[in-house]
Amino acid sequence: MKITTAEIITSAVSAKQYPNDRSPEIALAGRSNVGKSSFINKMIQRKNLVRTSSKPGKTQTLNFYKINDLFYFVDVPGYGYAKVSKKEREKWGGMMEEYFQTRETLKAAILITDIRHEPTKDDMQMYGYLKYFELPVIIVGTKLDKIPKGKRVKHLNQTIHTLQVESTDIVIPFSAETGEGKADVWSILKKYI
Ligand code: GDP
Repeated sequence: MKITTAEIITSAVSAKQYPNDRSPEIALAGRSNVGKSSFINKMIQRKNLVRTSSKPGKTQTLNFYKINDLFYFVDVPGYGYAKVSKKEREKWGGMMEEYFQTRETLKAAILITDIRHEPTKDDMQMYGYLKYFELPVIIVGTKLDKIPKGKRVKHLNQTIHTLQVESTDIVIPFSAETGEGKADVWSILKKYI
């Protein structure tokens, strides 16, 4: 996809702050530090539109990025920070639930995992969470450049098996360094936008 425009439209913590132009949305989820910002920046050819995800203590928001005046990437806050307080976690849960439960323009989700490692409990929980809302999920196994070519299939299979990926979903190996996998992700996304 040729990217002509990419800009942040709004950061929201509740439904009344979501954009209301009814453009399709693709949600992006992933553990903190997994490479989610790098993934989005690579996809839209912007070096630094999306900053590294917020650290504990910072406000956690849903960030709506409008791409080509056509659709939104919705960056949902990273999970898997053990240090986050119970209160913070509850706030995060409520915000996520409101979005995933009610958002009619949400068409699919992208779950970012690290292809070097077996998916964590947090990854498994998040995949289950997205499937609970009956969303198509595209799993992007990033940091592909960090594993030797001969081991790619093994790592890909490990991701598929550990997450118990449903047959209607797909895992795409990706690298924000080399851009590998980018065309594959766009070709899947085109169905939803
Ligand atoms: P986020 O917290 O999930 O948004 O993670 P970032 O996008 O900030 O990435 C975390 C770290 O991983 C940074 O140091 C990135 O440079 C690095 N990183 C992200 N994607 C890749 C990738 O595909 N390959 C390599 N080698 N490093 C990556």
